[in-house]
Amino acid sequence: MSAARHLVQGGLSVAVLEARDRVGGRTYAKQLGEGIFDMGGQFVGAKQHRIHALAKEFDLELMRVQQVEEGKKIQDFNGVQSTFTTAVPLLSFWKPFPLVNLAGLGLTVLCLERSRKQIPADRPWDARKALKWDRRTVSGWLRDAWWRPRQVSGMFDAVVHGMFGANASEDSLLNFLHFLQTTDGFQEVAEGQRFRFANGSQQMSLKMAEGLGERVILEAPVHEIAQDNDGVTVHSGKGAWRGRYVVISVPLPLVNRIHFSPELPPERQLLAQRSYMGSIVKCLTLYDRPFWRDAGFVGEVLSDREPIAAVFDNSHPDSGQACLLSFIAGKHAYYWNKYPEKERRDSVLKLLEGWFGPEAGKPTLYHEYNWGEQAWTQGCPIANFSTGNISLLGKEYGPPLGRIHWASSELSHEWISYMEGGLASGENTAKEILAIA
Ligand SMILES: Cc1cc2nc3c(=O)[nH]c(=O)nc-3n(C[C@H](O)[C@H](O)[C@H](O)COP(=O)(O)OP(=O)(O)OC[C@H]3O[C@@H](n4cnc5c(N)ncnc54)[C@H](O)[C@@H]3O)c2cc1C
Repeated sequence: MSAARHLVQGGLSVAVLEARDRVGGRTYAKQLGEGIFDMGGQFVGAKQHRIHALAKEFDLELMRVQQVEEGKKIQDFNGVQSTFTTAVPLLSFWKPFPLVNLAGLGLTVLCLERSRKQIPADRPWDARKALKWDRRTVSGWLRDAWWRPRQVSGMFDAVVHGMFGANASEDSLLNFLHFLQTTDGFQEVAEGQRFRFANGSQQMSLKMAEGLGERVILEAPVHEIAQDNDGVTVHSGKGAWRGRYVVISVPLPLVNRIHFSPELPPERQLLAQRSYMGSIVKCLTLYDRPFWRDAGFVGEVLSDREPIAAVFDNSHPDSGQACLLSFIAGKHAYYWNKYPEKERRDSVLKLLEGWFGPEAGKPTLYHEYNWGEQAWTQGCPIANFSTGNISLLGKEYGPPLGRIHWASSELSHEWISYMEGGLASGENTAKEILAIA
């Protein structure tokens, strides 16, 4: 949508073929109780200027998020639960051996921050230690660290679950460091949660689609793309379109669902085969009031307990609808649908009760959204690479292949895999085409 908008502004004609019966992709909002809630991408950072500019242009309300304000947050790692009040759980670490844990976390963050700064945001495969970092998983690296911080490993399990929808035991350290570099480090990742849209982030795409009008064709899944010397023919469920260039903006693992003529080069096919979508299920529990605030809690939890990796106060400031948002991620999300609905609900409510008291176990509404069930996304929040692949094949993702150009939040050099990254990537790809068209 971002690419199409910039191409039209640059004087080209476009058609946007969307497989679903709606626009927005990994952003999707639903009315629950008295509020409108995001099922997908939600949090917006203060420095994500493209999103702020769109919000201003379309007069969309961005609200400040509750959980970054003052108050107690909960951390629950390796079976030990405690509270902290800082932005990052650094200064008030948990009770047993607090100094050891504090030192362990400090060293871990320091090492990761130093390493990520050695990575070129637009060419992670060119980092001097790219291969070394790409061979390691995040948990393997932590396990071998001389300070062996067990609780810190638990914390990073939760962080990787929440950010990548993957397990620390499968995520490449280079993937993790590159992500950090495009967001400018841990502090900015925490700051990336400052705002959200009052009526959901999907509003951005809905407004862009409104501007594009009949150029947007819904329920038109693309199944074949053929290119020749003069142009491209794109075959979809709603017929064929002919153009000079095509921009493919589907999540990378889904590229292999499209048939290409001529075939994509082998290295390009391998790249798509070796990427995988993360897994996240969002669970929203609605209440009559935000009771957790009575006890001074901001409603935020980071945990390595099964099945919840993180909880946020998701109450709707405008409507006042109280809500806790729980993330089921990585290995817990892979098998989520195998459990009966009641078992899933009970396991979530039991943990919430443990953290916030008995009222947490009696929501007025319980709602789950499992992105693994969505045919045109097949997981979330982002596409990841497992070990060894960014250094080997990463550079193949991005450069045009003849008349085929690529755009996606995973292709951005700033805020990779965020909504801001999606807007940036669309903008860059449009510039790429406008320069040659
Ligand atoms: C649960 C969850 C939480 C998240 N949290 C945040 C957050 O807090 N902050 C943040 O910034 N980001 C977050 N993200 C990530 C963010 O939403 C995505 O990075 C971003 O929206 C991706 O945009 P995109 O345009 O690259 O891809 P998508 O939004 O996936 O768009 C791709 C589009 O292609 C369509 N498509 C797929 N295949 C075909 C085909 N064959 N033919 C035609 N159309 C096709 C899809 O239907 C979709 O509309 C989250 C995502 C999820 C799901």
